[in-house]
Amino acid sequence: MNLTEAIKAAGVVGAGGAGFPTHVKLNAKAECLIVNAAECEPLIETDKYLCRTCAPQIIQAVLAVKEHLGANRAVIALKGKYAQEISALDKAIREAAAPVEIFQMGTFYPAGDEQTMVQQVTGRSVPERGLPLDVGCVVDNVGTMLNIYDALAGRPVVEKYLSVVGEVKEPIMLRVPVGTPVEDCVRAAEPQIADYALVIGGPMMGKQLTDADAIRNAVVTKTTGNIVVLPRDHYLFRRAATPLETIRHQTRSACIQCRMCTDLCPRYLIGHAMHPHLIMRNLWREQEVADSAEYGRIFGEAANCCDCGVCEMFACPMQLSPRMVNQYVKRQLREKGIQVPRNSQPQARAEVDQRHTPTDRLVSRLGLSAYYGLHAHECRTLVPDEVFLPFSQHIGKPAQAVRQQGDTVEQGDVLAQAAEGLSANIHASISGVITEITEKGARIRGRKE
Ligand code: SF4
Ligand code: SF4
Repeated sequence: MNLTEAIKAAGVVGAGGAGFPTHVKLNAKAECLIVNAAECEPLIETDKYLCRTCAPQIIQAVLAVKEHLGANRAVIALKGKYAQEISALDKAIREAAAPVEIFQMGTFYPAGDEQTMVQQVTGRSVPERGLPLDVGCVVDNVGTMLNIYDALAGRPVVEKYLSVVGEVKEPIMLRVPVGTPVEDCVRAAEPQIADYALVIGGPMMGKQLTDADAIRNAVVTKTTGNIVVLPRDHYLFRRAATPLETIRHQTRSACIQCRMCTDLCPRYLIGHAMHPHLIMRNLWREQEVADSAEYGRIFGEAANCCDCGVCEMFACPMQLSPRMVNQYVKRQLREKGIQVPRNSQPQARAEVDQRHTPTDRLVSRLGLSAYYGLHAHECRTLVPDEVFLPFSQHIGKPAQAVRQQGDTVEQGDVLAQAAEGLSANIHASISGVITEITEKGARIRGRKE
């Protein structure tokens, strides 16, 4: 079995983002492999933990992927302030005499955005709506590297490391089977308030769960790296709940056209056509623009927005919401079938290194200062009585069930096979009996040992 076959068999998908199937991403040749360990969202602890504790395995996987890609550079990019993590990686690199570089980034958001990272490491800007591969790079998360290491040893993705932070006794690291109820993870961290809501992922781009049913039904997937526990009335939840009509009204009456949203936009800084202040300037007449060509000319740049949220959570002095406006406009562009032209050779702007958003100031704006600077040190293993494994934990088509209700399975058995095209295998994360299986996923009740 070659590297991509082993990765496909193990069901490896991007561990730090949307879950792009890794065997498809690595079906390529590239000049530079970049391993993303920047963990740019505030409060998350997982990548740091993996760098400290699994550095030798990470380096072995980096070497295997570098060789597979035919890359002449392999770089692990993380924040320069992560001294312990850099020291652990350095030691593993020296012991393996591995040709792997460490690239130290500043403490800014979004250092871990893959297009920002490619620009910082190589000086090249990824084309608008393009991929790192367009400029000779493959970017993979450090957690994905660890899963690749396991895949090469024949072990599928059945467990996940994640941190639980925020309104908890103290931040903790957990190692849990994929499919573990999120509520079990929160309980393990001892929440300090009864009425909480959650962010799955980081506070800037993570998925908010405010509804009791949504929280009860949520499970850890292959892409879950962090859970933030916050009071239900926290600023982050109130802000995200602002209706579009209110945003329209606020924009019309309060946008002062200062262009801070544009000047600090990470996509603008790497040279993309992205001027949110112009979209905000024209929002008042958005519903009156009937001609598609004109709509595309005025609002098309929204297609280049990566939803990072710097504009609305940090840059705007009037607390307006360019990101949510762009999300709305992107839906309109899709529904109207408007194709937006793209610049395939953007050049980073001269001020790219001067206009980074400092993480500590961002944390303060987000109302998260009370939780910043607290770290999870030890990792606990949690094994629930029951898991639910969704068959769509990745970008692309859901995997297709190959087992039936009542089947007895062992940890690591294939439950659902990757569909044709973009998809990924799903494996049993605990040993036990399948009590439910549909096209959506499978529930396993664990065997009492
Ligand atoms: S969310 Fe705002 S800052 Fe981020 S890419 Fe979009 S417009 Fe730029
Ligand atoms: S930063 Fe806010 S006030 Fe300034 S142009 Fe952008 S949306 Fe308008």
